[in-house]
Amino acid sequence: MRIGWIGTGLMGAPMAARLIEAGHRVSVHNRTRAKAEPLLDLGAGWAGSIAEAARDQDVIVTMLSYPADVAAAYQDPDGILAAAAAGTVAIDMSTSSPALARRLAEQAAAGPIAALLDAPVSGGPAGARNGTLSIFVGGDAGALARVRPLFEALGTTVVHHGPAGSGQAAKLVNQVLVANVTQGVCEAFAVAEAAELDPRQVLESVRVGVAGSPLLDFAWARLAADDLEPGFKVAHLAKDLQLVLDEVDDARELPGTTQVHALCLAVADALGGDRGTQALITTTRHSGETR
Ligand code: NAP
Repeated sequence: MRIGWIGTGLMGAPMAARLIEAGHRVSVHNRTRAKAEPLLDLGAGWAGSIAEAARDQDVIVTMLSYPADVAAAYQDPDGILAAAAAGTVAIDMSTSSPALARRLAEQAAAGPIAALLDAPVSGGPAGARNGTLSIFVGGDAGALARVRPLFEALGTTVVHHGPAGSGQAAKLVNQVLVANVTQGVCEAFAVAEAAELDPRQVLESVRVGVAGSPLLDFAWARLAADDLEPGFKVAHLAKDLQLVLDEVDDARELPGTTQVHALCLAVADALGGDRGTQALITTTRHSGETR
């Protein structure tokens, strides 16, 4: 298939690489070209603009940072909705707003594009590299059938949650779990440190019990190595939790999520939003930089 891929960051780059390696003809665009260079070495073409990436493709994928980036990429006068050829299927795989996904799908349906799916993912950069992502799909079932082979190159679980916006809504459920589990892992690590336990031994015990999870393994290993580099940026978790809080009538219904949202904003403010979410540890340490 001819694929226009827009957004080659921590997730977008390894995902696009899998499609190139599967033999698809991929044109890539990213705001910062340097992050797309490894994909050009793999055989991708460079598109100098979003419009150039969107023109004459079978499928267009966006994997961008924030809902505002997604809205601009599709709705700008020289954006995807204006540039895409008739019959193209567009897929937004960023984590974004369900309401925006519904709006964009309606606008796409009124134009030449065949359909616009929302298909955010879970699994992190490792899942992206290994093709083991979980893909949460909302939108037209016929369009999903057409692009299913691409999803199967990217992930091992593809679930159609319903109409446009439902993929994003399901992904936000996932982010409530991610937020509260990450905060729990950070607090557990701080307790292990305070008790002067060997973190590797503690992990060996807890990971095989009911508290085990891929997120525990990932975050604990980074914390044990004192590594705050991002697999998932703390500013992006703050964005996701704001989207969750926008979906509920009263934020007091979600006390844990509300608290982790505030902690993410504090960490982003103190250390920078590009730190990994394991930087939430700094809110638990007495010597931490955010106290
Ligand atoms: P990232 O590393 O920040 O990548 C986002 C990329 O989009 C960046 O390379 C950025 O360009 C590019 N971009 C943003 N606006 C653009 C525009 N208008 N035109 C062209 N390029 C633009 O983030 P990520 O970790 O890959 O995450 C991408 C999305 O997936 C986010 O919505 C995130 O919440 C979600 N997600 C992340 C993970 C994870 O574990 N990392 C897992 C699941 C879902 P620059 O290079 O110039 O910044």
